[in-house]
Amino acid sequence: MRELEERIRRDGIVENGDVLKVDSFLNHQMDVELFAAMGREWARLFAGEGVNKILTIEASGIGIACIAAQQFGVPVVFAKKSRTKNIAGDVYRVQVPSFTHGGMSDVIVSKRFLGPGDRLLLIDDFLANGAALEGLLDLAEQAGAAVAGAGIAVEKAFQPGGARIRARGVRVESLARIKSMGSGHIEFC
Ligand code: 5GP
Repeated sequence: MRELEERIRRDGIVENGDVLKVDSFLNHQMDVELFAAMGREWARLFAGEGVNKILTIEASGIGIACIAAQQFGVPVVFAKKSRTKNIAGDVYRVQVPSFTHGGMSDVIVSKRFLGPGDRLLLIDDFLANGAALEGLLDLAEQAGAAVAGAGIAVEKAFQPGGARIRARGVRVESLARIKSMGSGHIEFC
């Protein structure tokens, strides 16, 4: 999506070679007009796919997912990073390593909000090594929910996540795919 690529070129900052900071428009300050354009694009790409719910992960996916959900007319469920050891069997649970902070997070979704009748669109801000998206796929599988595909804002195509997830047969639609980046340069696929 050209609008997103141009914005990344203009306002994105490359840190440590493989981390792209987009906190002026995507995951700290949020440009909701841009989010609306992204939502329209995913709605076009996944039209007719029967999506009845969007599943995303705390925290950066939530804003994008909510604006996209308005285009689909469906609710959003966000997987929560949980600190409490919930022993009751009322949640689906998965462990997800954090790309940006290191360490593992326990990620949960209440069984009340996902089930076999659902056909999900997974949404996230970044796809890097694929761990976050794999966590969402795992939660969907536990729930017996179908997955129509994944909508990603920025895929760092030089990292292995995209290939790994597509190899599982999951449709991944990334609105900006970065082929390579370094200080002062970003090249898109
Ligand atoms: P993965 O699990 O695919 O390795 O990483 C995905 C998660 O890590 C995303 O939800 C995102 O929050 C974070 N992430 C990965 N790479 C970047 C990056 O280059 N910049 C930012 N801001 N977040 C990233």
